[in-house]
Amino acid sequence: MSAPLVKGWCPGAFRPMMSGDGLVVRVRPPLGEVSATQAAGLADLAERHGSGVIEATARANLQLRGVSESAYPALIQDLRALGLLGDADSEARRNLVLDPFRAPKTDQIARGFLDGLSRTEFSALPGKFGFVVDPGTPRRLAGISGDIRIESSAEGMILRADGCATGRLLGDTDEAIALGLNLARWFLTSGGVGADGRGRMARHLDGGTALPDALSGDVDPSPAAPEPQPGRQGHGVCVAAAFGQFTSGALRALSETGGPIRVTPYRMLYLPAVTDLPDHPDLILDPQDALRRVQACTGAPGCPQATVQTRDLARRLALSVPEGQCWHVSGCAKGCAYPRFADLTLVGRDGAFDLVKQGTPWDDPIRRGLSPLEIDTEIRS
Ligand code: SF4
Repeated sequence: MSAPLVKGWCPGAFRPMMSGDGLVVRVRPPLGEVSATQAAGLADLAERHGSGVIEATARANLQLRGVSESAYPALIQDLRALGLLGDADSEARRNLVLDPFRAPKTDQIARGFLDGLSRTEFSALPGKFGFVVDPGTPRRLAGISGDIRIESSAEGMILRADGCATGRLLGDTDEAIALGLNLARWFLTSGGVGADGRGRMARHLDGGTALPDALSGDVDPSPAAPEPQPGRQGHGVCVAAAFGQFTSGALRALSETGGPIRVTPYRMLYLPAVTDLPDHPDLILDPQDALRRVQACTGAPGCPQATVQTRDLARRLALSVPEGQCWHVSGCAKGCAYPRFADLTLVGRDGAFDLVKQGTPWDDPIRRGLSPLEIDTEIRS
């Protein structure tokens, strides 16, 4: 498998990434939520400064595409006016994923982490180093990558370092915040960050560095919940869009419901205070919609790392995906759209596709160099 170009950082509002269709500007909504006013504002900004599309990412962020370099300064000013930007230094470390269907303690813990991470002592944390706050039962974010994890267990809330099967029992939210930040401190002081500024918890532990007793434990996390689907969820509604791309019109329609909108890491949005399903042709509310069974990243020509187009193929394959399965068309082995296990994954490489069954984009493929026509034959065999 040819390795994707690993940059070790994700695009942010202050560090936009140049793509084939202009700058990608990523917004990390505080506590993973935007108000109706902010959502309507983002829809306006996507039309004024970008391609008119707002993408929900696999890290529960929102990003605008197609922003020109000349429009970028005005976009930053407008995002700041909407209250969607922190300062440039701490913005890069605001890498938290929260359970979108959360209990009040989720917000308290996340606020504590954000407050702590704004301190300069954490400025050396790598750009991809992240926190997952998932204290409910069952766990909603079990399949979501994160280095420091607050999770539930049969005995109560636990702190778990990624790479450890079990975690340390926590007494309350204050202890969760204090020990979570201590774990980040330990990661920094024990050599978790390499000379290139990169580093992940699981790799650090895998390299033989042992966690201190105070930050480890033998409590199993609670079972994982199945991935949520569009439609009613709890007291609210989950809404999807093809490939996580919400048109400005669709986001504006959601803003007109008046309530807050949470970004999920499933490339869907969750409206916690809405009972009536919003109506817009670009929104997917049916869990059986064929486009929900296939994931695809930007691909060529939008992403400079891609040598293949992805979304046309994904749309064509969607009707072939058996019910209950998830297929993924990835422009390269990085797997941005769905960085996890899928029943079938097609990975672009040198203008053709490698095929992985029951694995991730970076696993060894069972077939290499397939053309789109050969893919049809392969999936029917
Ligand atoms: S997975 Fe897709 S979007 Fe991500 S870097 Fe590769 S080609 Fe680009």
